[in-house]
Amino acid sequence: MSDSLEFVVEAPRTVSLPVAGSDQRFPVRRIYCIGRNYVAHVREMGGDERRDPPIVFQKPTDSVVQSGSIVPYPPMTDNYHFELELLVAMKSGGYDIPVSQALDHIYGYGICLDMTRRSVTEAPDSPRLPWELKKSFDQSAPCSAIYPVEQVGHVASGAIRLDVDGVPHQNSDLSLMIWKTPEIIATLSRYFSLQPGDIIMTGTPDGVGPVLPGNVMVGHIEGLGDLTITVGERQS
Ligand code: MN
Repeated sequence: MSDSLEFVVEAPRTVSLPVAGSDQRFPVRRIYCIGRNYVAHVREMGGDERRDPPIVFQKPTDSVVQSGSIVPYPPMTDNYHFELELLVAMKSGGYDIPVSQALDHIYGYGICLDMTRRSVTEAPDSPRLPWELKKSFDQSAPCSAIYPVEQVGHVASGAIRLDVDGVPHQNSDLSLMIWKTPEIIATLSRYFSLQPGDIIMTGTPDGVGPVLPGNVMVGHIEGLGDLTITVGERQS
């Protein structure tokens, strides 16, 4: 039916990610992100380690970038940071998913970067700035291929590591997540109807830091391969 629709401007393409070991693609609907989900990262950001409810924000679907890409250094910041995270890809959803059933809704897992303007040029000291400017900008969501659960099982522990130009920066373990994946899905589903194609960025461990044009970031999660992104020249 959609083939017969005529649009007055160019219609956006469907955003999708490769599926490991397949020619088929995973279509991306929404990108939910969890903040402050590893104690050591909460500390390095100046917070304490209470088990507060998870921070939730979204990135625009078309901010997805595939592994192997060059991502331009974004405008309006001099402090552009990497945050390496476990990606969870949903095959089904709905409201009010119990923790005990959350894993049944997962299609697969991957690696992602929650690229962040740690500060914004015109408001460098504004912690209350809406997160859109810091988190939800163009090309802020590099993602690896999706590894289906049938291939890799459910991923709850294992090394998570980011190297920049071959130098280790982030080096932690997924088991240190404060809110585990089933709890994240259950919590999100109390606020949003999760749907097939939704992906979740589950928060970053400690060791975040800045990158500059020319830097090559290689993210690795045990069992999920690599995510490689090169920082390009400053945009605008
Ligand atoms: Mn993050």
